[in-house]
Amino acid sequence: MECPNCEKDKLMEVDDIVSEIEGHFFVVKGKRCSNCGEEFVPEKEGQKMVGIARNLGIWGEPLKLHRKLSQSARGTMLRIPNDIEKNMKLKGDEKVLISKIGKNKLLIEIVT
Ligand SMILES: [Zn+2]
Repeated sequence: MECPNCEKDKLMEVDDIVSEIEGHFFVVKGKRCSNCGEEFVPEKEGQKMVGIARNLGIWGEPLKLHRKLSQSARGTMLRIPNDIEKNMKLKGDEKVLISKIGKNKLLIEIVT
């Protein structure tokens, strides 16, 4: 299977992907690219995690997922996690406003 991020055939099955929801850490199974380090959590695992988070009463907005920035010829890229994409029904051609908040936060607003 090819990595959708760097397009190298380096995806490995792993069971130690760490995702954070509201300060709680979840370890889930998925795939990790040994070339660029991008992690992919299958929908089934993502839903399991969300189910647990709901049961614990910690599910809420904002949902924080760890993602790495990546480099392309045109600059630094950020991939929007699938869950958020689905949740917000993003088509991928939306215009966004990006503002810097404080030292280490970015706010991304979808322009509708
Ligand atoms: Zn990759």
